[in-house]
Amino acid sequence: MNHKSVAIDGPAGAGKSTLARRLAEKLGYLYVDTGAIYRTVALTALRAGADPADPARVVPLLEGLDIRMGYGEDGVQRMYLGGEDVSQAIREHRVSGAASRVSAIPEVRSFLLEYQRRLTREHDVVMDGRDIGTVVLPNADVKIFLTAAPEARARRRLLELEQRGEAADFENILRDIKERDYQDEHRPVAPLKQAEDAALLDTTALNLDQSLEALLSLVKEKVE
Ligand code: C5P
Repeated sequence: MNHKSVAIDGPAGAGKSTLARRLAEKLGYLYVDTGAIYRTVALTALRAGADPADPARVVPLLEGLDIRMGYGEDGVQRMYLGGEDVSQAIREHRVSGAASRVSAIPEVRSFLLEYQRRLTREHDVVMDGRDIGTVVLPNADVKIFLTAAPEARARRRLLELEQRGEAADFENILRDIKERDYQDEHRPVAPLKQAEDAALLDTTALNLDQSLEALLSLVKEKVE
């Protein structure tokens, strides 16, 4: 049977993961957060004391890497590294920057490519990331490029951190977001860019429910 796939790409903080998860719930598809997989590789590098930007240190770590994805009773995706649940640890600030570094290493990307494709052979998926529509699933049934102005993304991130009781500063967050955008857009392998056949959804002026509505109607247009 041919499985359905929805590819959602876009920069950090555009609301991708929240929206992709809710979309997957509505459609009854499996949600795959590919950023979490890159983050798990980044955590491995940090724990090994390796510079995440140094292929000579990172590539050897891929051999024997035991990464697993699972779903908790709440349906939320969890990441396991050598059996340890690292779902919280990979959300640390230092891991975000490191993920952006390791993801620029071609060997890391090709190592994770097959892993991601296999999931879509086994399930209907909503997959989010940076290169899903362009590289991982070029034949996805629906491709969406989800974006928002950097300031809007930084504001949302600030709110999220404040709600978690973490100290944060708007200017720092904005700078980090712009730096990560730059790195993701300018790497030679699988840079962040809109696939030619992807629909663009800009959520700058939309709240979560409005964004989800817009997303659902884009999907329904294509899948039904
Ligand atoms: O989406 P998230 O912020 O969790 O992703 C962390 C980092 O992983 C991104 O900055 C990006 O560099 C990388 N990534 C990627 N390709 C993907 C998903 C994430 O390069 N498909």
